[in-house]
Amino acid sequence: MTQKIQAIVIRSNDRKEKDKNVLLFSLENGKMWATLKGVKSPTAKMKLAQNPFCYGEFVLEDGKAGQIITGFEAIETFHEISEDVDKYFEGTAILEIINSIDFSSKEEMARVFVLTIRSLKTLCFENVLPLYVLDKFLISLFDITGTPLETKRCSCCDTTIFERMFIDYATGELTCINCMKYGSEELAKTTISALKILSSTEFDKLQTLKLAQDSELGLLRVLARNFEARFDKKLKFVGIFS
Ligand SMILES: [Zn+2]
Repeated sequence: MTQKIQAIVIRSNDRKEKDKNVLLFSLENGKMWATLKGVKSPTAKMKLAQNPFCYGEFVLEDGKAGQIITGFEAIETFHEISEDVDKYFEGTAILEIINSIDFSSKEEMARVFVLTIRSLKTLCFENVLPLYVLDKFLISLFDITGTPLETKRCSCCDTTIFERMFIDYATGELTCINCMKYGSEELAKTTISALKILSSTEFDKLQTLKLAQDSELGLLRVLARNFEARFDKKLKFVGIFS
């Protein structure tokens, strides 16, 4: 059976002498491995399709040991992300997060796919602080996967008036000081402000933002830890800044 899918390359591994296994994330099928045959030979036609971030139309056919990529047309290579050290960390972090998620429905998967492409486009082409994009990606991901970070009211008593805010990593809920659960972490004022502003700013408006210095990094620590708790996965990139 032959099928055509729109997908982005999450990662690739060597397979045999000249082949590569490529992990694709597609709108149609979610994550799946497929083989690129002969891609390491100097004259290979589909060389681009082995690179992480490469986004395009893939033609797949059933092979003896899984799916084989028999055709590829690039939509966007996002190669600027790989070539810019400032963007590479955030881009790789987004791919690592996608790699870690087990989707609960096709609808959720499709929405995360759209979010991923939107995030990478912003990171690649717009004049935005790269960490803002990674923070916004994670905030949007929690919205899509059913555990939004609700900043307007305490998740426990519903009060909207609270100066101090706490996150309970066991549930991913934000509370006021009166409802704070044992083991919760208090969010710094700059982190709360960065979270509120980024939650209400669309991707196309990120380039006009100017948050308090380093608040995007403080927020990323909280968001990454919340991701690890929600999805029960460890993220490698967290080790770099913690
Ligand atoms: Zn409360």
